[in-house]
Amino acid sequence: MLVVMHPNATAAEIGAVIARVQERGATPHTLYSNGRTLIVVVGATSHLLIEEFERLPGVERVTPIAQPYKLASRESHPEDTVIRLDPHPGLPEVAIGAQDVVIMAGPCSVESRSQLLETAHAVKEAGAVILRGGAFKPRTSPYSFQGLGLKGLEILAEARETYGLYIVTEVMTPDMVPMVAEYADILQIGARNMQNYGLLHAVGQVQRPVLLKRGMMSTVQELLMAAEYILTGGNYRVMLCERGIRTFEKLTRNTFDLNAVPLLKLLSHLPVIADPSHATGRWDIVLPMSRAAVAAGADGLLIEVHPRPEEALSDGAQSLRPELFFQLVQEVRRVADAIGRSLLLPTG
Ligand code: PEP
Ligand code: MN
Repeated sequence: MLVVMHPNATAAEIGAVIARVQERGATPHTLYSNGRTLIVVVGATSHLLIEEFERLPGVERVTPIAQPYKLASRESHPEDTVIRLDPHPGLPEVAIGAQDVVIMAGPCSVESRSQLLETAHAVKEAGAVILRGGAFKPRTSPYSFQGLGLKGLEILAEARETYGLYIVTEVMTPDMVPMVAEYADILQIGARNMQNYGLLHAVGQVQRPVLLKRGMMSTVQELLMAAEYILTGGNYRVMLCERGIRTFEKLTRNTFDLNAVPLLKLLSHLPVIADPSHATGRWDIVLPMSRAAVAAGADGLLIEVHPRPEEALSDGAQSLRPELFFQLVQEVRRVADAIGRSLLLPTG
């Protein structure tokens, strides 16, 4: 159920609605959209009467929310959510989900200090504003490179200071959320963990933006329900990431479900990020699929870049050399301009 307050509703009127929701055993989430306070009522709502809440002072209207993903649904928040990264000294402000398309780029894994700093320098020069790189890697084989762990986080933090790039990195277990959140500007939940409910709960408890990747065998609705777990914990800064799904096609690692990009924008107010690297698994089609993703309405791109892809410890086959990444940024910029958006470029 959604309670829309009058634009001039008082704090006391808003407080009274919240108190009434709690008295009735449901949970209120207070959001703002179009100059109004919105109270999204979740939990045990089936016994609540719309008329009861419509009569309360300061209430403009009350509507049911049809979708099962209440907080993630556009019904509960008609305007696009704009996620502002937590400010970091010396770094420019970054807003995701607004006019500007944002590029996040870097290696699949942090392999060494020199590899990460070299890549960070290259992606910054080319036009990325956020640096990606896994310190904790979810690998299919236990014998594959598992990431540098805490050392990797420290290297990422050094790259942030040196090159003025925000950091997105994966967190794999609930107990590591506080530690990774100390280093990361955005917490990545990997495709394999999209339905790890303990982890979703844990990232819902911290105030750090989350990049939630779609499971490789998950539907769009399951992605939205996973986002709901984080939102209902009180962390409202969630980005949805389309990274390809498994199909019968063998020539690409995954099938890029481009449908999901405009569909998610339609169904949800949350920013949508596209990951053409994992969605294709091959460097030679990442560039055209990046153009396509931005044309389809993605708010950002997540791109794997490695200075020497043939030496990469993970995902070399889909990693772009810096020169090709530079070209990608140029082309994506033109696509963004063509659809009335723009590309967020580094300032310093
Ligand atoms: C990654 O971003 O390197 C990664 C492991 O992605 P995914 O979880 O989408 O496979
Ligand atoms: Mn990867």
